[in-house]
Formats: sequence, C-alpha cells, structure tokens
Amino acid sequence: MGNEDILETVREVLTQYLLDHNMRKMVERYTILEYVYQHEGLFSVDDIYEEMDKKFHVSRPTIYSALDLFVRCGLAVHLHFGSRTLYEKSYGVRDHFYQVCYSCGAVKRLSSPQVSAAIKTTRRQGFRMDSVTMCFNGLCLKCQMRERRAHQRYLRDLQQKKQQ
Ligand SMILES: [Zn+2]
Repeated sequence: MGNEDILETVREVLTQYLLDHNMRKMVERYTILEYVYQHEGLFSVDDIYEEMDKKFHVSRPTIYSALDLFVRCGLAVHLHFGSRTLYEKSYGVRDHFYQVCYSCGAVKRLSSPQVSAAIKTTRRQGFRMDSVTMCFNGLCLKCQMRERRAHQRYLRDLQQKKQQ
C-alpha cells in the first residue's frame, strides 16, 4: 500500500468513527492525522505541535484530544513513561515493541519475530486484536557505562581512603 493509499484509508477509518459516535468532522483532526502518518517512529504532542506550528495554528489541547481520538479508533498507540506520553501511528503495524531506559528515558523501537510469532498463536477467546504494545524496561548501553564508571570511581575513592 502506498503512502497516499494509507492516508486515504486512515481518513476513512476516522470518518467512520466520527459518524458512528456523532462527532464533528473538524478539519484540524484530519490535518493532525496527516502529520501523524507522515511521522516515522515515536513522537510527543510537542513534536507535532512544533511541526504544525510552522503552517497552522493548532493548540496543544486540540492535538491531545485528536491523538486520544486516534488511539480510540485504532489509528495510533500511546505509551506512558512517568509523566511523558509518546505516540506512534498504528494502522497496518501490529507489533509495537520498545526498549525503554529508566535512567535517561531513551526509547528505541525493537522488532522480535519470535515474540511476534508467539503473540500470533496466543488464544484470545474471540477478542479482535489490532495491535500490541510492549515495553522492555532496563538500562541503555550509555547508562550502563555511566553506572560502571561511577562504581569504579566509588571503589577507587574507597581504596584511597583506606590508604590514607
Ligand atoms: Zn539510558
């Protein structure tokens, strides 16, 4: 499916959802949807706000509520890390795996064919699964190195104190 076809399809999904829920077809929602679908990878409300601000004036609350709407109609997924929320488009992308560093907050997308295969064969008792969001929590390489250096410094200081 080409980019234009995907955009056309996600616009239709949104329109159907708005019709089904008696919600207004606000132009801003469609513009935000286009921005979301042009965005590769994870983004925050501020990312979209800054990108859009160059051309349109859309307030942050409008972006928040549009993204919330996209999550509800299966067009986006969201992730919460403490006070931070990140989003990603989700139409046609079933598995969203991320590794999250709890020290510096770095988030990186992962792919795992083994995990995807295991999810595919999980019994769901009639539940229609559209997407999966999974976080691998831990320490990134940089933070591990920083911890190791801090630990070595601590040992060195301890050693020097003993010698004094
Ligand atoms: Zn880190």
